Amino acid sequence: DSVFAHVVKAPEDPILGVTIAYNKDPSPVKLNLGVGAYRTEEGKPLVLNVVRRAEQLLINDRQAKLSVLVSRVKEYLPIVGLAEFNKLSAKLMFGEDSPAIRKNRVTTVQCLSGTGSLRVGGEFLARHYHQKTIYIPQPTWGNHPKVFTLAGLSVKTYRYYDPATRGLNFKGLLEDLDSAPSGAIVLLHACAHNPTGVDPTPEQWEKIRQLMRSRKLMPFFDSAYQGFASGSLDVDAQAVRMFVADGGECLVAQSYAKNMGLYGERVGALSIVCNAADVASRVESQLKLVIRPMYSNPPIHGASIVATILRDKNMFNEWTVELKAMADRIITMRQKLFDALRARGTPGDWSHIIKQIGMFTFTGLNKEQVAFMTKEYHIYMTSDGRISMAGLSSKTVPHLADAIHAAVT
Ligand code: PMP
Repeated sequence: DSVFAHVVKAPEDPILGVTIAYNKDPSPVKLNLGVGAYRTEEGKPLVLNVVRRAEQLLINDRQAKLSVLVSRVKEYLPIVGLAEFNKLSAKLMFGEDSPAIRKNRVTTVQCLSGTGSLRVGGEFLARHYHQKTIYIPQPTWGNHPKVFTLAGLSVKTYRYYDPATRGLNFKGLLEDLDSAPSGAIVLLHACAHNPTGVDPTPEQWEKIRQLMRSRKLMPFFDSAYQGFASGSLDVDAQAVRMFVADGGECLVAQSYAKNMGLYGERVGALSIVCNAADVASRVESQLKLVIRPMYSNPPIHGASIVATILRDKNMFNEWTVELKAMADRIITMRQKLFDALRARGTPGDWSHIIKQIGMFTFTGLNKEQVAFMTKEYHIYMTSDGRISMAGLSSKTVPHLADAIHAAVT
């Protein structure tokens, strides 16, 4: 008998499980709106042209200066990853002329995409920060509570979404942050809140900033969609930059999964903005002690691709064009779905579909309606009614609109 005979089968991940169910469905009209990955109008995964070009350069190593990137040579990177990648990632997030970077107040370390950056940041805080409680929005990305709990933090929630308006519960948010213990950590989605697609306005962000600074709450930004939400890298970084501009401290987890389509390369960065250069340098030395026993050092290929693109003006511009095209296609899908429901006279106010931003729409459909759409229309999504707009195309919008119409009537 196996010594593991007592091990019970674990449930599927609620998000990744949607794809598993989808794969089992033989229907030709099946539609997967669960997965958080971009698809083209033809429903295909996309590798950006600029990424292909960067990979070609790395393979050919034609430019002598690229040899510093050494993706061709499969050596280990340092514990904190590729130095040039870290520098360029910080600039992308905080701005070309960021005073915090100029004053060396920021330490940036390459991590395993957004998830790994959150985990390393969480473990650093659990070891070295005086407040072990992190407040996450209600609802939030399903992995957040698990990542932070295992990092050693205690997880609490703050009100965020108002089902009645399908918008922000701004009053509840302010009340909950105001009553959080002084110094508590607060997880903020930098833009394109997942799963709701609801972001604070710039004015609301400013109020949140003032309240958090006056209550000495520690901002931990999760930036998984920079450029992917509005189509502009700078616009999507505004909230983060607002908090950095006031001179205070914060953490930022960056991911290149969505905005460069590098999902499986697992490339991201954790930045900790400190109030002085000597603090930042000591913080970095401790980040190494978090990373080393966890995975020693990060992978080289994805970081080399990102650095190759960010360091070259032409490639950077080419990237912004391709990024905007992805963002625009998603925004177009929102409009098409909204129009299709209107045309069907589907009962209810569906304007939240065009008001929400980013990869997802929080439809407001309940669990029973979602189950109905899966059973009768072969449409797959998470049971909270979240649909990935990136998984939709002009061809599949009518089928989805029919399903929603049938589910609510
Ligand atoms: N944060 C949020 C809000 C996300 O939506 C995601 C991806 N679904 C991530 C972090 C992490 O993604 P990754 O680890 O692939 O970068």
